[in-house]
Amino acid sequence: MCSQEQQKLDLGMPVQYVKGVGPVRAEAFAKLGVETLGDLLEYFPRDWVFMPEPVKIRDARVGEEVCLVGVVQQTDFQKYRRTPMFKIALADDTGVVEVVWFHGGYLHGQIEPGQVIMAAGKLARYKYHLQMANPKFAVLDAEAEAEPGYFSGPVYPATAGLSSVQIKRIIRPVVREASRLVEEFFDEAFLKRNGLLSRAESFRQIHDPTDEGALAAAKRTLKYEELFLMQAGLAVRRHHVQHAAPAKPVVRTEEIDRRIRRRFPFILTEDQDAVIGEIAADMARAVPMNRLLQGDVGSGKTVVALYAALLAVANPAGAGQAAIMAPTEILAGQHMASIERFLQGSRVRRELVTGGMTGRRREEVLGRIAAGEVDIVVGTVALLQEDVAFANLTLVIIDEQHKFGVHQRAQLRKDVSPHCLVMTATPIPRTLAMTAFGDLDVSVIRHRPPGRGEVITKWVRPEDRRAALEFIRQRLRAGKQAYFVYPRIDAEVNGAGPGQDVKAATVEYERLREVFGEFRVGLLHGQMPSEEKEAVMAAFRAGKVDALVSTVVIEVGVDVPNATIMVIENANRFGLATLHQLRGRIGRGASKSYCFLFSETEDEAARSRLEVMTRSNDGFEIAEQDLRLRGPGELFSTRQHGLPDLKIANIVDDFDLLGLARRDAFAMVAQDPRLVRPEHAEIRRALVRRFGGKLGLVDIG
Ligand code: ADP
Ligand code: MG
Repeated sequence: MCSQEQQKLDLGMPVQYVKGVGPVRAEAFAKLGVETLGDLLEYFPRDWVFMPEPVKIRDARVGEEVCLVGVVQQTDFQKYRRTPMFKIALADDTGVVEVVWFHGGYLHGQIEPGQVIMAAGKLARYKYHLQMANPKFAVLDAEAEAEPGYFSGPVYPATAGLSSVQIKRIIRPVVREASRLVEEFFDEAFLKRNGLLSRAESFRQIHDPTDEGALAAAKRTLKYEELFLMQAGLAVRRHHVQHAAPAKPVVRTEEIDRRIRRRFPFILTEDQDAVIGEIAADMARAVPMNRLLQGDVGSGKTVVALYAALLAVANPAGAGQAAIMAPTEILAGQHMASIERFLQGSRVRRELVTGGMTGRRREEVLGRIAAGEVDIVVGTVALLQEDVAFANLTLVIIDEQHKFGVHQRAQLRKDVSPHCLVMTATPIPRTLAMTAFGDLDVSVIRHRPPGRGEVITKWVRPEDRRAALEFIRQRLRAGKQAYFVYPRIDAEVNGAGPGQDVKAATVEYERLREVFGEFRVGLLHGQMPSEEKEAVMAAFRAGKVDALVSTVVIEVGVDVPNATIMVIENANRFGLATLHQLRGRIGRGASKSYCFLFSETEDEAARSRLEVMTRSNDGFEIAEQDLRLRGPGELFSTRQHGLPDLKIANIVDDFDLLGLARRDAFAMVAQDPRLVRPEHAEIRRALVRRFGGKLGLVDIG
């Protein structure tokens, strides 16, 4: 804490008025996204260079980065070598080294015998002498001492009219004033306990580090702070949502649990049991549940959803209604069908509400829902928007399948909040679960129910194609079915181009019909009329088509247990998420399944993806690897999820720090949900600045 109240400078001041900027450079800064003094302070270097202080040649070690100061004894420009080279002999009073610059023609005339040169780079032994290749260098005044720290310091992303060195010269005097610029978020005891610097110190060190240790501490502090503010925002938002309106507590008794379990013709898996435990504990509270349930397709989420719905209906504290919603009518229909299967002979009243339901019939059903005469309502997410009236809606379940993030929780809130369970088959890596969806609780079903065949994945190189196709022929003869997936529908019209080797479904369909003449081959792609598509799918489902040639359209919503083979052509062209979703189409029956990734590629990233696929069947591991390979930026934008962009932290690389920040931020909000305590005033101000009015904090700001 500052002992005396210093006068603070205004961080909102336009950068133009910072010393050394002016209107022309202000425009260049604007291109870098720097508009204000505060932006300037947060314009972090992209790199830092640390050069050791100069040493005598005698003391310089081979293999190390060293800095030498000496006199140029002779120069030599070898212009006609294969690689032209500019070469000098540099000597001090202890020895001589050869310094070379490949393609160094531009130095000819710039470096001359008699000059004093400082050169920094890696020292090597070449033949019988010492050599330094392509060093950084400076020509010094003959009289001058080598200026300490000449090569050291920050490197800024630059732009036309604003070099890194110019930015460095502008920022340096500013950060010396850092303690007059920034307010502290945390007290000293906290900083000390967590090994963090003060904010002022970390701004000074990030722009003008004294050494690598201080820089590391500054980075860690600024990253922690950024992640802490993000997590505090999530914690406040979560608190706000949870306390907008109470939910109805649902009581679970042993008797009810037994009765529900009797509905299932199997024993729930360990994962299902654990998840049900978490859901039941949430629903027992007057605070609305806000939980995300993740599990691959076929992992048994629907059963868990039905359990939760029956719990709401059976509530001894007052029977409630449950709504189960899917993104499409087809999926809603599938849910209804499986629910019907489990609820044979049950007194629980259930209704499927569809868009096709019109007139009198629709009015009648909606009337019964409003009167509390329907217990479980199944429909699409349109139910949310249409303002269907419920008598006592206790639980809302939203199955988002493959498009997680479309749910609009806000629309559910009325005077009484229902408990809310969102289900998704898109595996969300832990990093994203803690950030983009960080205000939800997360449950995971990792293991699928027993009785499913293993899925074996092979990366097939061109030389093994024939053998793979032969193997597939054998499986088809044994009565199994196969998918063949291609990246595109048609061959490219104007022939030439980098995509020539990319296989097209329509072309390969013809080819496969010849190769697999003894089998029935079907074709499915997005440009076919929907009746045709449905006819082909129906034929495949009925086993009347052996091999289905398609584009990625089969990614969603196909379930044919007898299809045990998946061939993905040009597999290097697909992302990990898509490959995993495609593979999810097989392995649905009891027998072994095979996924063949046909690909020849030199692309490193693609090779990594294919390797991940052959190694793992675990959607979460794959999602985690995906995030690692692609970087978080590409997978999701924080801003898209109402979170400010991260400037310095990276949720993948800084995962450990993210965990700490999350724990601390949630603990703070648990103690002081609206951040009214004086010691939280600065944090609250920073949150309002970053999140705007979205947190419900402004009213006290
Ligand atoms: P999801 O909704 O996650 O895609 P489902 O709930 O539809 O998965 O379950 C997939 C299949 O597995 C269904 O046929 C379901 O009846 C069956 N199933 C679910 N749980 C179990 C279990 N514990 N034991 C055996 N089969 C199960
Ligand atoms: Mg399902």
